[in-house]
Amino acid sequence: MANVIVVAGAGVSGLTSALLLSKNKDNVVTVVAKHMPGDYDIEYASPWAGANVLPMASEENSRWERRTWPELKRLTEDVPEAGIHFQKARVFRRKKDESAPGVHVADPLFSANPWYQSVLPDYRELGPNEVIPGHDSGCEFTSLCINTAIYLPWLVGQCLKNGVVFKRAVLTDIRDAKGLSHTGLPARIIVNATALGSLKLGGVKDETMMPARGQVVVVRNEYHPMIATSGTDDGATEMTYIMTRAAGGGTILGGTYDVGNWESVPDPNVAVRIMKRAVDVAPGLTGGKGIEELSVIRQGVGLRPYRRDGVRIEAEEVEGGDGEAKLIVVHNYGHAGWGYQGSYGCAERVVELVEGIVRG
Ligand code: FAD
Repeated sequence: MANVIVVAGAGVSGLTSALLLSKNKDNVVTVVAKHMPGDYDIEYASPWAGANVLPMASEENSRWERRTWPELKRLTEDVPEAGIHFQKARVFRRKKDESAPGVHVADPLFSANPWYQSVLPDYRELGPNEVIPGHDSGCEFTSLCINTAIYLPWLVGQCLKNGVVFKRAVLTDIRDAKGLSHTGLPARIIVNATALGSLKLGGVKDETMMPARGQVVVVRNEYHPMIATSGTDDGATEMTYIMTRAAGGGTILGGTYDVGNWESVPDPNVAVRIMKRAVDVAPGLTGGKGIEELSVIRQGVGLRPYRRDGVRIEAEEVEGGDGEAKLIVVHNYGHAGWGYQGSYGCAERVVELVEGIVRG
């Protein structure tokens, strides 16, 4: 008998979960979502991401990122139409950020001797003459950058090829997904990949979910390598990073990491500071000139789905709500700023949980 599964959410978490689940022909998968690839909306984080791989987890929580890298690497090498390219990444550290509360949104990235040096290729500490002014040390490694405008539709295409059916729906309760399988049969398993939606979604209402607002400026100017710095002098919520997307996707200048801020409109003052910092750390972006040489494609704001206690990936039995059999909800939400770089590791866990449920 087929396993009727409904995945709620069509961001990178829902799509990757649907893709891996659909590889097993016993699974019949429907994806339902308020927003789909092609939409740009403040309630939909995935299109706004850079997206690159700059590991953020501590070593004990590194499973998701460790398990994702080999698959993203394979796609970059063998599947050009996925819209990913390899890029060197340079990470610069300032001693003063080590003890500055709130500045470090991603401490392990800036550790000396980080766990990821054995995962990401070509890791090396930079020599003193390679460290940019105002910074004390740095490292370099091979990473990659995903053009999300290509990659998300590519994921949809891979799912369609495996028989996944997509539907628009706005859920008020996660249990409503039970009746939305394209088969007409009641779903036995629901995957909850609704990210920030889980804050208000009936049957979940996870009040530890909150936005980590990220403001970016996307420009036509190109720059290599990708850059991230450990802090700025513009306040605890501001960051500096630069990444040029694959296949003409523009260069993302970031940014901010502002937990609890729901504002959807870009702040023009923040945008100017982002551009100034970018030109400071990477003068080559504008040929040594000022921010007036940046050719802006757009400004944007995305809300990273931040969860106070970290990502939630677990199975939960919930009442069917109609006197019928209980439903199993497999949660996969709360990825904050690492949804892409952890996507395959998390989706692989979703598959393990679903297989465990099916086996009884
Ligand atoms: P989302 O993309 O938000 O998708 C949620 C889905 O659930 C949507 O389809 C939505 O419509 C649906 N949904 C929600 N509620 C309901 C409902 N009630 N009914 C029906 N559907 C519903 N990550 C990286 O790995 N690398 C990066 O470099 C990176 N850079 C980033 C830069 C910025 C500026 C931002 C904002 C994020 C960045 N991220 C990065 C983080 C990444 O974007 C997120 O972790 C990831 O997109 C989360 O994906 P998701 O599928 O869980 O959520």
